[in-house]
Amino acid sequence: MQAIPGDLLAIDRQGRAKTPSLNLELRNSTQRVCDFDEVLLPFSPEQAIFEAARCIHCPDPAPCVRACPAENDIPSAMWLIEQGRFLDAADLYRQTSSMPEICSRVCPHEALCQGSCVMGKHEEPVQTGMLERFVTDYQRYVGELSIDVAEPTGKRVAVIGAGPSGIACAEQLARAGHDVTIFDAKPQPGGLLLYGIPNFKLEKDVVFARVDDLFRMGVKFVGNTFIGRDKTIDQLEAEGFQAFYIATGTWIDSPMNVDGENLPGVWKGTEFLIRANVKTAYLPDDMKDRPEIGKKVVVIGGGDTASDCLRTALRMGAEEVTCVYRRTENEMPGGSKDRKLAREEGASYQFLTQPLRFIAGSDGHLAAIECMRMELGEPDASGRRKPMPVEGSEFLIEADTAILALGYWPDETIGKTTPQLETHKYGLIVTGKTTGQTTRPGVYAGGDAVTGPDLVVTAMTAGRRAAEAIDSYLRTRVN
Ligand SMILES: Cc1cc2nc3c(=O)[nH]c(=O)nc-3n(C[C@H](O)[C@H](O)[C@H](O)COP(=O)(O)OP(=O)(O)OC[C@H]3O[C@@H](n4cnc5c(N)ncnc54)[C@H](O)[C@@H]3O)c2cc1C
Repeated sequence: MQAIPGDLLAIDRQGRAKTPSLNLELRNSTQRVCDFDEVLLPFSPEQAIFEAARCIHCPDPAPCVRACPAENDIPSAMWLIEQGRFLDAADLYRQTSSMPEICSRVCPHEALCQGSCVMGKHEEPVQTGMLERFVTDYQRYVGELSIDVAEPTGKRVAVIGAGPSGIACAEQLARAGHDVTIFDAKPQPGGLLLYGIPNFKLEKDVVFARVDDLFRMGVKFVGNTFIGRDKTIDQLEAEGFQAFYIATGTWIDSPMNVDGENLPGVWKGTEFLIRANVKTAYLPDDMKDRPEIGKKVVVIGGGDTASDCLRTALRMGAEEVTCVYRRTENEMPGGSKDRKLAREEGASYQFLTQPLRFIAGSDGHLAAIECMRMELGEPDASGRRKPMPVEGSEFLIEADTAILALGYWPDETIGKTTPQLETHKYGLIVTGKTTGQTTRPGVYAGGDAVTGPDLVVTAMTAGRRAAEAIDSYLRTRVN
């Protein structure tokens, strides 16, 4: 239900619909590839008010709200921003989202809220993502973020995995007064927000500030602890934890299963991004060395990870950075916004191209990739047209570095070491659709570990929903 005043019915919708958008201001591409700083320049207060006033306030439920997995009340936020009530708008976002300052930076808005904005049919859509970022950054800047927690309930919850899903669940449970500890295999909290998504998309200070909020709420963090190996859920239960939320994501890179995949110079996407992007102080001990990438880099894959690898390689000084993908751009799963930025920064694309093997030079290091041209055949089980090899079309691409960004699976350890916890294909955890309840009483799960690789906003939303279910479970539990 939109919380906007009735007199909005009188707004000049036609006038608003004709108002051109403020173009998003980006740092110049030649300048931005020289560093890892954020690429989008923030709105000023005047620009935010102008842009928010373009919203025509569609009848409830507005398409932008329906397209937002968190169901943020975007029209009401636009109205508040238009009035200059930035703090009220930020609070409104925080009612439905545990990390609006993060989602506003990394959500594929072009496919969600902005993609559904009716203004997009004639003009540019309202820049709802940038406006969410503006008000939540403003709130942080003026120090007006309140941390309210309920009276302690005395109930203890273990959250396993400190990515967006675990953080959101922990935040909601701490607010409800529960005693929450997050366990993570990595030294620092953040999951892929820290150990995946590069700084030029999401400044790490933004993640640290949100994590600090959790600490201020009393949430505890235990790093370097791989649940299922260093400790099991049964052991945690014996230590007094009464409920669990598993949000361990998908951290196993899909292999290519071709010759030469293990040559020096061939990297897995996640390991490459961790080593290349994360400050050494936050890196696990076995990942402290930066990759040496040389001049020619080939990234294989078509998702967000591929875009991030391309843009990271350009920032590391590579001269030729090419994305190789076996279908066409239409079938690419990654966000188009990131591809546009990658192209502006100098990345090129070879579509309908399948690598066949990685070839070493005389020094044993990767020197070239043998590839084959493809053409699209009939749709496969995923509904996408299947790439078919073009006979006799083999060719070589010279490469100093190849990065495989092909897809991700969950690690099966937690499923295998937790009695009664059912998993299905590739080790994904089986849960009830809305609550995250697993097949073991008191154990809930969500985020990528349940859905497979998805988005920050969907993982966050799953964490919030599970927190509600865990809260009810704990309140009805006898001891
Ligand atoms: C390179 C890259 C770029 C991306 N870019 C975007 C983007 O721009 N926008 C977007 O919306 N989404 C993006 N995504 C997807 C998004 O990051 C994920 O969907 C989201 O982080 C999933 O959240 P999660 O909490 O489920 O898991 P994760 O963020 O993966 O966190 C899981 C945590 O669990 C920990 N863990 C795993 N196993 C164990 C264990 N057994 N014991 C203890 N801890 C464990 C891990 O160390 C990790 O910290 C990107 C993904 C990648 C890989």
